[in-house]
Amino acid sequence: MNTRPPVLPQEAALDERDGRYLRQAIALADRARERGNRPFGALIVSAQGRLMAEASNANGESGDCTAHAELSAIRLASPLFDRQELAGATLYSSAEPCVMCAGAIFWSAIGRVVYGIDAVRLRVFRGERLDQKDAELSCRDVFDASSHAIECIGPALIAEASASHEGAWKR
Ligand SMILES: [Zn+2]
Repeated sequence: MNTRPPVLPQEAALDERDGRYLRQAIALADRARERGNRPFGALIVSAQGRLMAEASNANGESGDCTAHAELSAIRLASPLFDRQELAGATLYSSAEPCVMCAGAIFWSAIGRVVYGIDAVRLRVFRGERLDQKDAELSCRDVFDASSHAIECIGPALIAEASASHEGAWKR
C-alpha cells in the first residue's frame, strides 16, 4: 500500500473552450448526484466541437459498480465513431479518471483528456467512509504506459469540481 504523504497536483489553466466543456461535465456530475449516484459526469467532444457522447455516473440507480461517467460515455461513442475521429476527440471529466476509466480511454484511442478535481483531493471526500477508497494510481500512470500519445490536462476548475462532492460521500 502507498504510504507516501499526498502531494496536491497544481491547478491547470484552461482556455475558454475547455472551460466551457469541463463545466458541462461538472453539471452532469451534479445531475448524477440529484438522482442518487456518485457525483461524476463526462462528455466526449470531437476536434470540430461536435458532442459525441455524454454520461453521468449511474452507480446508485443501476447498482453497477462499473457505471462510471467516463466509461459510459466511451461505451456510447465507441460504436459510433472510428478510431481516427476518437483520436482527435477530448474527453472532459468532472474528476480525474480512475484506473478502469483510464484503461477504457486507452482502448478507445481518445487522444486528449481534461479533468476537474484530481484523485488526491477527491480522497478527502472518499475518506468520509472507509469502503470508498480508490486504487492509488494516477490516470497519467496508465496514459504514460500507452503506445499512443494521450494528452492529459488537470486538475482544473478545482473549486467548481469540488463543490459537487461537498457532503456527497457521507452515506
Ligand atoms: Zn472510473
